[in-house]
Amino acid sequence: MQSSRARVIIMNAALGPLDYRVPHGMTVGPGSIVVAPLGPRQLLGVVWEADRLPTEEVGDNRLRNLIGVMDAPPISAPLRRLIEWTADYYLAAPASVLRMALASTSALEGARTTLEYRATGEVPQRLTPQREQALERIGERQGSIRELAAMAEVSDAVLRGLVKTGAIESVEVDLDAPFPIPVADFAPPELALRQAEVAGVLRDAVAEHAFRPFLLDGVTGSGKTEVYFEAVAEAIRARRQTLVLLPEIALTQPFLARFAKRFGCEPVAWHSDLRQSQRRRAWRAISSGEALVTVGARSALFLPYANLGCIIVDEAHETSFKQEEGVHYHARDVAVMRGLFEKCPVVLASATPAIETRHQVELGRYTELKLPGRFGKAELPTLEAIDMISDPPERGRWIAPKLVKAIDATLERKEQVLLFLNRRGYAPLTLCRNCGHRFQCPNCTAWMVEHRLTSRLACHHCGHTMPTPRICPECREEDTLVACGPGVERIADEAAALWPEARTAIVTSDTLWSPARAAEFVRRMEAGEIDIVIGTQLVTKGYHFPNLTLVGVIDADLGLEGGDLRAAEKTFQQIMQVSGRAGRGEKPGTVYIQTHSKDAPVMQALVTGDAESFYAAETDARRDADAPPFGRYAAIIVSSEDKEAAQLTATAIARAAPDIADMMVFGPAPAPLAMLRGRHRFRLLVHARRALAVQDVIRDWIGALNWSPKVRVAVDVDPYSF
Ligand code: ADP
Ligand code: ZN
Repeated sequence: MQSSRARVIIMNAALGPLDYRVPHGMTVGPGSIVVAPLGPRQLLGVVWEADRLPTEEVGDNRLRNLIGVMDAPPISAPLRRLIEWTADYYLAAPASVLRMALASTSALEGARTTLEYRATGEVPQRLTPQREQALERIGERQGSIRELAAMAEVSDAVLRGLVKTGAIESVEVDLDAPFPIPVADFAPPELALRQAEVAGVLRDAVAEHAFRPFLLDGVTGSGKTEVYFEAVAEAIRARRQTLVLLPEIALTQPFLARFAKRFGCEPVAWHSDLRQSQRRRAWRAISSGEALVTVGARSALFLPYANLGCIIVDEAHETSFKQEEGVHYHARDVAVMRGLFEKCPVVLASATPAIETRHQVELGRYTELKLPGRFGKAELPTLEAIDMISDPPERGRWIAPKLVKAIDATLERKEQVLLFLNRRGYAPLTLCRNCGHRFQCPNCTAWMVEHRLTSRLACHHCGHTMPTPRICPECREEDTLVACGPGVERIADEAAALWPEARTAIVTSDTLWSPARAAEFVRRMEAGEIDIVIGTQLVTKGYHFPNLTLVGVIDADLGLEGGDLRAAEKTFQQIMQVSGRAGRGEKPGTVYIQTHSKDAPVMQALVTGDAESFYAAETDARRDADAPPFGRYAAIIVSSEDKEAAQLTATAIARAAPDIADMMVFGPAPAPLAMLRGRHRFRLLVHARRALAVQDVIRDWIGALNWSPKVRVAVDVDPYSF
């Protein structure tokens, strides 16, 4: 009897599919989530169609029995196809992709309830410094002992001690507590004519339940969110699930609030900041189909939705949709594939679509839906360049006189200002004025960035920090360290010196690291408690502050350095995005762009508003270079703590490269971050014609080689920056 055997993808990326015997009385089929033995261990796995995963046949007598089947719906056929496609396209192990679908194994445990802990407000008699720190940091938050201990940076034992004293109590959390159900017609907006047309197209597509990719292309403030909410409403009416992907978890909080206004309750949120119990509850509701709308970061893409009816990718051009670790996938592209397999529409919403996405429209694969103007009385802001060569700031300052004047006038009118600089910390480089010593990260090829708020130097790549020294470690002189160049903290200092009365706020991942922090920032902005925001890209997206009328881009040239293929495109998107924060209400907005390259095509496009010619020129340049979306790149990154081993392997891979007319291999060369987290990195860049199935070539080529276990080889198909 053939059904007594099952082919299983086991949760171990190093292993291929394995066959098991299905014991008497156990029923499994494709998609079943099972527990299987592996050596002395028990691992989760998923049963797969044997004919789709060829492997060496093992004789019946050598098969081991499956141990059990999880009490969860099987992984559906559309998701199985998506997992196969992703593993194939991005050259990843199916198990690594599957891991994202199962999210966390504990989500599968049968328990209906779990215990969490929170402070009672009682102060223990013996208040050690550790206990004090724990209670202070935990505040009103709740979580498992381990989560609270991590949050408070104390040991589990400290917390258990606090439980004994009664300062912390346990609460039972119902893991099956139902989520509220969004109401399609709770508070529908009155749509403008063009908005209504576009919403109608999206509604029909959802009702049809067929794969249709859309580019929802509208300037910032045109009502894209309002319009795609109509697609969500239609899916709710049909009792099918919607997934809304957002680029940053900092954006979820305002989104949740806005969603609740429209649909009467919040959607289910999925992001890395969830507690274990929240994760478990959300996973179960998503896999049962009970969670009608899920909003999440890219990791929400692979969850086992029971009946997906609509996928939205908001701010679809955002680079954070590209995952750079583990499975190197692009969530925007995988979202479209998921729509294909699930047979549902996919809406990519953006004010500045990526050239790749526009190209799909030109090829007729995606339908473009345009919202040309801002909604209501709001006008698009005017953009003006400030030439930092002819109109420079005073010595030691970074805000040019013209922008200073504009800020004066804006504050005078009691309106809000946003100063944008995509650099965290105080200064990007610290050096000794006496001996020239520069502070470099011991683990990475990167300078340490000074953070004055915490009095530390930090590496923005690996997170390594150290107290800012007063004495140069090289020449031993005291107080000789100087900060070079500006970061947001330095701009905040300058603003405080120029406008001592103004209330400033710094918005970066250092200050807005949780959804609660983000919500608090929004509240203060809306209440008018902030006059000047100084922020990184984190503040450029999604927010809607009607009283914010002036945006100053401190260094528009920042992204143009380095000769990246996408440098001009990214600069354009980022400045358009931050400009979009200005003048969203009834008052008009103005944007000043400080630049040293006023005549660069991207600056010209920004000030003239002629996006079309800019995109056309960029697209032509890509076509000429046979760069994406025309040709294709793949990067092969070879890394090791042992530099020589990495280099040897990289060279061996380059030597073994097959000689194929449609493919060129460059390198190996030190990767852009030649050392990262203590690992030396070498890179080969593969350039291939579109027609070539380059993944198959790379699989055969690299698959035939062996290397030392000290060396890691990762392939990044469609790498984002190089
Ligand atoms: P986008 O997503 O394109 O930036 P939004 O959907 O955020 O635009 O809309 C911008 C602002 O205009 C929001 O405050 C939104 O609530 C408002 N708005 C857009 N369309 C309508 C409408 N039809 N009725 C009421 N308010 C609208
Ligand atoms: Zn580092």
